[in-house]
Amino acid sequence: MRVTVIGSGYVGLVAGACLAETGNDVVCADHDATKVRNLCDGILPIYEPGLEPLVARNVEAGRLQFTTDLPGAIRHGDVVFIAVGTPPGEDGSADLQHVLDVARAVGRNLDRFKVVVTKSTVPVGTAEKVRAAVRGEGAGEFAVASNPEFLKEGAAIDDFMKPDRVVLGTDDPRAEELLRELYSPYVRSGSPILFMDIPSAEVTKYAANAMLATRISFMNQVAELCERVGADVFAVRKGIGSDSRIGNAFLFPGPGYGGSCFPKDVKALVHTARTVGMVPDLFEAVEAVNQRQKSVMFDKLKRLLGDVAGTTVAVWGLAFKAGTDDMRESPAIPLINALLDAGATVRAHDPEAMDAARGLWGDRVTFVAQPFDALEGADALAVVTEWLVYRTPDFERMHTMLARKVLVDGRNLYEPGRLARLGFRYAGIGRRAA
Ligand code: NAD
Repeated sequence: MRVTVIGSGYVGLVAGACLAETGNDVVCADHDATKVRNLCDGILPIYEPGLEPLVARNVEAGRLQFTTDLPGAIRHGDVVFIAVGTPPGEDGSADLQHVLDVARAVGRNLDRFKVVVTKSTVPVGTAEKVRAAVRGEGAGEFAVASNPEFLKEGAAIDDFMKPDRVVLGTDDPRAEELLRELYSPYVRSGSPILFMDIPSAEVTKYAANAMLATRISFMNQVAELCERVGADVFAVRKGIGSDSRIGNAFLFPGPGYGGSCFPKDVKALVHTARTVGMVPDLFEAVEAVNQRQKSVMFDKLKRLLGDVAGTTVAVWGLAFKAGTDDMRESPAIPLINALLDAGATVRAHDPEAMDAARGLWGDRVTFVAQPFDALEGADALAVVTEWLVYRTPDFERMHTMLARKVLVDGRNLYEPGRLARLGFRYAGIGRRAA
């Protein structure tokens, strides 16, 4: 099938490469000329496991092309995916400017019947705005569909190639037929393609992200309670997760959720709910708990170090989660800013996100090539991201290097009892002090 993907960022690039992998003829367009030039030269704008060889293989085979020529790209596709960014506006609403710009461009280049699919995360009602924007520019035939993307950064290829489900909102049988054919190679092992009305598909994406964010904020609050009453959140997590109505997934407390999706999508959901006259108090609480959680690591460092001014703190992990170089809304940002503001020196390591971090702090933070280099001259270590490389460090070496033996473990990677026996002053999130 001839497929166009507009917006070659995280979602567009992954979708384009995965759609090419099953034999489709895919053109990915983006208005960022540098990004497109780099992609044509085999340089990817993001780190995502497995993506580089996937892109290279499909470019080599002639099934995947990159271009800044938006009109040409639109004319290429029978299905046109819109995968541009939807950043938060000042009031928390999703900014639809890019989505609607693309929709108008589709309208101007409607040379035959096309299915125009919103893959960007967009509030309910957007597909109708897309329909109006396309129609406002041209007289050709088209259908609209909503196809929210559920990929996880760090496991994006697997999520696209073997999705738990594909959600497709459409009211047009031709669109349904084309999209069923396009997605059938990815659901051969039995995952469902869920066809539904367009508003339900649009709401599904926000409901899914809000549910996941809720579980995180819920566990962060349970962790705080555990700390105050002398319980251990690991035991509590197992105790509730083994209830089949609750399940074990997504019950890990941490330094607060970040990334390009949960924070902005929960805010956008609050905005949508308010717009239709609802009181979205639960969604607002999820976001408020998360905001508070982002200062928890700094508070623990302060408690263990006393005055932070003049100390040196090593930070392991800058990306908002392991497996990505994405620093958008990473909990490392407020932590490092608070440390710098309080007069601490910060030495940081991350396997993939240091280029992005240099853009944020320049030489105000010392970036080091190996995890243990960050500990040189440090009083304390804060572990922000759960990269595998941090999981089984040489604790004796760590103990020797850290002047004040303070270890704040934002991901609960280590066993409090063992660390106490080794002489660390250790704080996890919701773990019972040894
Ligand atoms: P991104 O910022 O990585 O990529 C967006 C791309 O769109 C950029 O390359 C930008 O240059 C391009 N673009 C913007 N306006 C354009 C225009 N008018 N014409 C052509 N190109 C244009 O964003 P992303 O992370 O890929 O997210 C895209 C959408 O998918 C968002 O709505 C996001 O919420 C949603 N989403 C993201 C994820 C994720 O994990 N990143 C997961 C699911 C859904």
